[in-house]
Amino acid sequence: MAHDPGIGELRRMIDEARRIVVFTGAGISTESGIPDFRGPGGIWTQMRPIDFSEFLASDEARRESWRRRFATDATMRKAEPNRGHRAVATLVNRGKASAVITQNIDGLHQASGVPASRVIELHGNTTYAHCLDCAERYEIEGIRVAFERTGEAPCCDNCGGFVKTATISFGQAMPAAAMIRAEEETLACDLFLAVGSSLVVYPAAGFPKRAARNGAPLVILNREPTGLDPLAGLVLHREIGVTLGEAVGNN
Ligand SMILES: [Zn+2]
Repeated sequence: MAHDPGIGELRRMIDEARRIVVFTGAGISTESGIPDFRGPGGIWTQMRPIDFSEFLASDEARRESWRRRFATDATMRKAEPNRGHRAVATLVNRGKASAVITQNIDGLHQASGVPASRVIELHGNTTYAHCLDCAERYEIEGIRVAFERTGEAPCCDNCGGFVKTATISFGQAMPAAAMIRAEEETLACDLFLAVGSSLVVYPAAGFPKRAARNGAPLVILNREPTGLDPLAGLVLHREIGVTLGEAVGNN
């Protein structure tokens, strides 16, 4: 692996860059045991997603949404950052990477040591919940205990608003502040590293496209071909953890 020319090229590009943006998708977290919800066999191919408007309109949709969240809870709590996450954290903590833009909702970048202020979550975060009206934060465990007792979807203690995981559902507006920051970071970078994303979900996949059109070299590291491979200066169809770990030089 050390003599792999693709990894050597990736290492050279990282060394030369001064301001990297790392963009991550489900592929980096599948190596931590978190399934790709949209991928083959993923939850969204077996169950119809609950649209945001349904969540707002229906008690039963809210209960079903929470039942699904609790069904994934053991997996989410057990998951730990892997070598790919650690390599990304190294790039941030060395001052090489200015931001991590992620489609993932698992919080594993923060868990691997990337400061929360450097993580831009395009699809939110499922490791906690918040009130849709006043934004009060709630922990999943407390909601689970109450749900098991009452069978009712949670409402906010402060204002009575609906409490929902801090994720962006289908049909829900993209988070405006995160979108603006992601855009700024994308246009300011001199290397855009797209890792573990099939680059088909928009608007998220628009960022690597913007970076490439703005003149930043684009590297795509993903097990499968992606829709943007023709735009990339370097394409590596490999396992993520070992490839990134070798290129960055950490275990
Ligand atoms: Zn509230």
